[in-house]
Amino acid sequence: MEFCVMKFGGSSLVTGELRQLVAQRIIAKVESGCDPVVVVSAMGRAGDAYATDSLMDLLRSVNPSPSPQNLDLLLSCGEVISAVVLAETLNQAGYRAQALTGWQAGIVTDQSFGNARIVSIDPETVIQASAQKIIPIVAGFQGQTSSGKVTTLGRGGSDITAVAIAAALDCQHVEIYTDVDGVKTADPRLIPDAPTIAALTYGEVIELAHLGAKVVHPRAVEIAMEAGIELKILSTDQAGPGTTIASGVSGKKDRPKITDRVVTGIAHLTRRAHVKISGLADFNQSELTLKLFDLLAQNKISIDLIYLSPQLIAFIIDDEKAESVKEVLADLGLNITVEKGYAKVSVVGAGMHGVPGVMARVVRSLEQANVPIFQTTDSHANISCLVREEDLIAAVRALFAEFELSKEG
Ligand code: ADP
Ligand code: MG
Repeated sequence: MEFCVMKFGGSSLVTGELRQLVAQRIIAKVESGCDPVVVVSAMGRAGDAYATDSLMDLLRSVNPSPSPQNLDLLLSCGEVISAVVLAETLNQAGYRAQALTGWQAGIVTDQSFGNARIVSIDPETVIQASAQKIIPIVAGFQGQTSSGKVTTLGRGGSDITAVAIAAALDCQHVEIYTDVDGVKTADPRLIPDAPTIAALTYGEVIELAHLGAKVVHPRAVEIAMEAGIELKILSTDQAGPGTTIASGVSGKKDRPKITDRVVTGIAHLTRRAHVKISGLADFNQSELTLKLFDLLAQNKISIDLIYLSPQLIAFIIDDEKAESVKEVLADLGLNITVEKGYAKVSVVGAGMHGVPGVMARVVRSLEQANVPIFQTTDSHANISCLVREEDLIAAVRALFAEFELSKEG
């Protein structure tokens, strides 16, 4: 059997018209001689009846902090509904299809509700269905623990389902269909004419995704990299070559080359809160920092852009955690301020390693755009700056112009 794994995001499934388009794409695969294995997300975005956010709002209107196990069970229904509706769309078109929950598709996870990790996949049911020419439509984003509790994989987790199933099936290609025609040099919601990048390495996409470009889940790309699976990001409703994500083997058609370009793209994360801790003089610095970071970790508060000095400790958090960070650290007797309203903007590119002057260009272009920088960090392949949320668009535009990202490739 020649499997081909196709994943469709929620915005590609929200109307009957779009689901017909999705069905046509699947049927075209069947007619070309492939055995499609389809993975779907919940239909639509916030506000749509069966979207993940709507299910979450429903439960939170009953209890603002529901049990993680109940929440996961409810959220898993969004993808199940989507899988069943798509399967019946295909049946109506004369192609046999069967919806499968994540656990029916053999996905076993650990116990971390809301952010579970896949520990194993037994693809037997999927293989059996395909062998009988029944198209399996797998509900993404979900699995089950070995003791039978339903879990979810975190937002964007259907991408992980698709790539993990492909790895279990020994399938070398995954197509991810979404509402944009590939990975662009910046989020098209901020820069509508940002061009699509034809080919990227796994490393570049992992970096972009971790820094906020939510077009594909970073964990999905990591699994693809480990298994040598080539990913294609494609639009559901537009034709076009999309973006190919693979290892950086040069010379082959379609393969990403390590480009001469210093910066490949810009990513951003909104809704950051800036935490500043002072009044440190009376403490042993290393003991205090250890205690502080342990407390944050125990309370599952992840921190980023960390700055340490004898006078000041600073970092950023998701602004949803602003209240809990104050509570968690209240007993330490420190002077703590937590300020919401920040965004982190990052320039990303494998080509910046060892190139002098990139930081200077970032700082100068933001300064010329009148965007104050509150903190920075960098690695071999990115530079991130903390800016005020209201300056985000100006910051992205300035960096987009500075690094000539309106030109593709
Ligand atoms: P899906 O529901 O199909 O999984 P997502 O919302 O998860 O779709 O991902 C697609 C969205 O990712 C796009 O609508 C776009 O706004 C956003 N996005 C952010 N950064 C980028 C980027 N660099 N290239 C393309 N899309 C991006
Ligand atoms: Mg997604």
